[in-house]
Amino acid sequence: MESVERTIARLIDWIEPLDDVEGVPVLESVGRVLAEPLTAPRDVPIAPLSLFDGYAAAGPLVAGESLPVVGKQFAGDPPARLEPGTAIRIFTGALLPEGADTVIAQESVAVDAGRACWREDVSFGAGVRARGADSREGQVLLEPGVAINAAMLGLIASTGVAEVPVRRRVRVALLTTGDELLAPGEPFAPGKIYDANGPMLEALLAAAGVEIVQRACLPDDRDLIDARLREAAAADLIVTSGGVSVGEADLVRAGVEALGRIDHWRIFLKPGKPLAIGEVLGTPFLGLPGNPVSTFVTYLRFVRTAIDRLTGRDNPGAWPSQPVPLASPRRGGDRPEYIRVRRVEVDGRVQLEVYPDQNSGLLSSLAWADGLALIPPDARLAAGDPVEFTAFKELGL
Ligand code: AMP
Ligand code: MG
Repeated sequence: MESVERTIARLIDWIEPLDDVEGVPVLESVGRVLAEPLTAPRDVPIAPLSLFDGYAAAGPLVAGESLPVVGKQFAGDPPARLEPGTAIRIFTGALLPEGADTVIAQESVAVDAGRACWREDVSFGAGVRARGADSREGQVLLEPGVAINAAMLGLIASTGVAEVPVRRRVRVALLTTGDELLAPGEPFAPGKIYDANGPMLEALLAAAGVEIVQRACLPDDRDLIDARLREAAAADLIVTSGGVSVGEADLVRAGVEALGRIDHWRIFLKPGKPLAIGEVLGTPFLGLPGNPVSTFVTYLRFVRTAIDRLTGRDNPGAWPSQPVPLASPRRGGDRPEYIRVRRVEVDGRVQLEVYPDQNSGLLSSLAWADGLALIPPDARLAAGDPVEFTAFKELGL
């Protein structure tokens, strides 16, 4: 069996980033992966400006001294000229008048008969944001591979860049399989279950910014599965749930074998075995186990990694975790295990409460949890022992 880390390294090695780059309006770039270094086309701010409402003068200023106030400088106006021996009324964000170098806040000024009198000393250059303090012309603001967030979008917008080069969205074909599955809204029938993995994976893929180009819920029918797999090969990535074990009804495996190749990667992980990885007519294929919690966990560790890699993202499949103490004792099994946990505060300390039934078929455990904790194999953990915890929120979920 192979460790999760080794599997991820193999996935990253095997999957190549898509080449296609497209320019999108800055507003639509959030969540997309930057394709080229983003360079500032100009200094921001373009000239020194005032940090607050007050008075601009030539510094330094000495408490008790005063100057006549001549003119006003508003934000958005071109810079006025400061005559020597005078001050100018100035507002937050306004360019410094030519000849001025210092701003004193209005709270520190007494104005009387057209003269501003300083209540305190002000050093030369105070109250001013220097030219280029935020971004410098030619500076690389963002490196390729970052997923653009709202703050980065703000930074890009501040430089006046209107179009951002990003990687094309990954196109995914999503197939769920099983004779027992009913699509949402279908009337219930004995022996059937509602397809839970399909909608869950659609939501996960949507959160990852993926374009789902094909979606089907298929019975265990070889001809149908083959036909859908052929269509699916037009996508960048094929993701399936169910039908990849070694039972008679596991026809996805047979279908993929006929159209490409499939490996069973026996991953040293619970839940998550079996995971099938292969190719359909040259398109990468990831076959997830059908049990919903296994589907979810293998999605998070492996499909996320594959998608990040296809979009050329830095640190593909990033898995932030932190040690948090368990609220109750726990024993490890024969494989590393991701258990469903929830953070609770006990006597002012954060601990992990463990969902009582960790069966991989129970969606209720996932919906209850706010993250996964990793229990190492053969561990004998006491209450209060730390384990690595990954919050769903940190994965953007
Ligand atoms: P399989 O991997 O096809 O052998 O399925 C393993 C278990 O997961 C079986 O109990 C299936 O009924 C269940 N299962 C498979 N696909 C889904 C799905 N899309 N939604 C909910 N449960 C599923
Ligand atoms: Mg099945």
